[in-house]
Amino acid sequence: MPNWNKNIGLLSLVIIVSLFSEKVYGIDHVTFRRGGTTTTVSGKTVVEAEDGGQMVMTANGHYWLITAEEIIDSYSDEATFKLYDSKELEKELLSEFSDKYRVTHTDHFVICHNTTDHYAKWCGLLFESLYEEYYKLLGGKGLKVDDVETPMVVLLFNSKMEYERYSRAELGDATDNIIGFYSQKTNRIAFYDLTGVDKEYLGKKVKFRTQIRHILKQPQAERLVATLIHEATHQIILNSGLQKRYADIPLWIAEGLAVYFESPNMRKTNGWNTPGRVNRSRLIQFRQYGKNRPANSVETLIQNNTRCANSETAADAYAEAWALTHYLFKKREKDFIPYLKELSKREPLVEYTKQERLDDFRKYFGDELDKFDKSFLRYVSRLR
Ligand SMILES: [Zn+2]
Repeated sequence: MPNWNKNIGLLSLVIIVSLFSEKVYGIDHVTFRRGGTTTTVSGKTVVEAEDGGQMVMTANGHYWLITAEEIIDSYSDEATFKLYDSKELEKELLSEFSDKYRVTHTDHFVICHNTTDHYAKWCGLLFESLYEEYYKLLGGKGLKVDDVETPMVVLLFNSKMEYERYSRAELGDATDNIIGFYSQKTNRIAFYDLTGVDKEYLGKKVKFRTQIRHILKQPQAERLVATLIHEATHQIILNSGLQKRYADIPLWIAEGLAVYFESPNMRKTNGWNTPGRVNRSRLIQFRQYGKNRPANSVETLIQNNTRCANSETAADAYAEAWALTHYLFKKREKDFIPYLKELSKREPLVEYTKQERLDDFRKYFGDELDKFDKSFLRYVSRLR
């Protein structure tokens, strides 16, 4: 599950300040008062609202949404803004978490964990192979998929309790039902070991393969792999510029892409090897939903986020989002890539209305949604 904060509209009438330019001069310092506490953040203003509200990115990649009413003082200097590199991220993580945590580096990720080193290494390998597959699938197609500017932060907790202690501030009561998440605010992904097996190996000497094989044999392993890949996909998409953080991207496509990548492959030693495999559990769910599926199902899915966001309808909506994304990738790629390109232009905190969503969808996939739906369903009916 994602953590898509519902902050669209918080800053009204936005003026966009350039975000992804290579060198950005000037550091903005904003002092604000929230819940009785005064805080100063220093970084780069990503969005400035006409009413004075600001979204500021600090050097660790966190976004701060500050309303005009909260701001006490704001000024800029001439210093150069630079995102933290992997060493600076490591230093910050080690001071934030207790001395039971260690940091592992891969080419594109900084992994802070109190799990075993083997577990962290395994997750790092999964994320790096996802990174590679992501670029293989989407790079070189005219889409904006840049190499990420700084390493992405991953948190791995060895127990549900410690994961919950960290997550509750952001997820609130939803923490109990969310087994891993990507945060648009902190730009981090966080998980715990669903299988519970890793803990048994803490402080023990064992071969990497032996331990990972044991973890992957557990009944929860498929779900664990799917979650790791799913959330890391959100993170990579929003760090490579395919979509922008806090842009009002329709949930069906944000989730559809994550689900498209997530499908585990338990025959592989890592538990995953490639995106776009038939996602069995989503297919079964979609076929179940098909028994009472309304004729305007695609329309309601693309027009608003309700079906994906509401816990009662989410399972069906995610299944349909997966099926639709699968269909678009496999059968309509020539239209799908330009559609993704259109979405990548959407700026943070700017509302994407129901009508605009529908218009854009029709622009790339045709006016006749009935006809579209027929070929979509025909395609899914043949999936095995
Ligand atoms: Zn998600």
